Amino acid sequence: MARADYTRPDFYARKAKEKGYAARSVFKLEELDQKEKLIRPGARVLDLGAAPGSWMQYTAGRVGPKGLAVGVDLQELGRPLQPNERFLRADVFELSGEDLLARFGNFTVVLSDLAPSTMGDKSTDHFRSMALAERALELCGRVLKPGGDFLVKVFMGADFEAFVREMRRRFRTAKLKKPKSSRAMSREIYILGREFIRSSAGEGTRAPKERNSDG
Ligand code: SAM
Repeated sequence: MARADYTRPDFYARKAKEKGYAARSVFKLEELDQKEKLIRPGARVLDLGAAPGSWMQYTAGRVGPKGLAVGVDLQELGRPLQPNERFLRADVFELSGEDLLARFGNFTVVLSDLAPSTMGDKSTDHFRSMALAERALELCGRVLKPGGDFLVKVFMGADFEAFVREMRRRFRTAKLKKPKSSRAMSREIYILGREFIRSSAGEGTRAPKERNSDG
């Protein structure tokens, strides 16, 4: 059986390079945003799992000079930030929503493209991805404005349906999205929650180091 060759740049990887984006992932967000009108000028967007930074590049362009894009990742972005971008190098499990609120105020949109380093074992990858998605939802409970929107990636598996049900309790609508540029073989899927209606409890408190310039 023919196997996918992930070492050869595909159409979207080449297109990202041509347009100066840090990763092909940008086209997933672009497609969803164009269809759903998710990121508006002036919006305040928290981007969890932001490195290498293509979603932040796209978001900073969309929100414009009156908006804000705040990225969080375990890894550095490795590029200079625009005036409307901030970056925290942090583990989302150690990030405190209160600290985010104190530094940036609340957000109108939370994005989570968080993904574990995959082990090749579908079940392990799924449960680690669910833990990240649940943590992102928990942070929404602290920092997302009532009426705000949340886009989150998960790898499908046993706990997926329960998570979608939870999203439906917390948002007026929650829809499943599989962008064209998401590889067909991949078990990843996005859930778009619109109009946040409830908050959650319980989270860590360690303060991360903030960066608003390169380095
Ligand atoms: N949306 C990004 C872009 O457009 O460049 C790509 C995100 S990449 C698919 C997933 C990211 O999640 C990785 O950079 C990884 O370091 C980050 N990540 C995974 N676990 C994390 C954690 N516990 N805390 C913070 N970031 C994490």
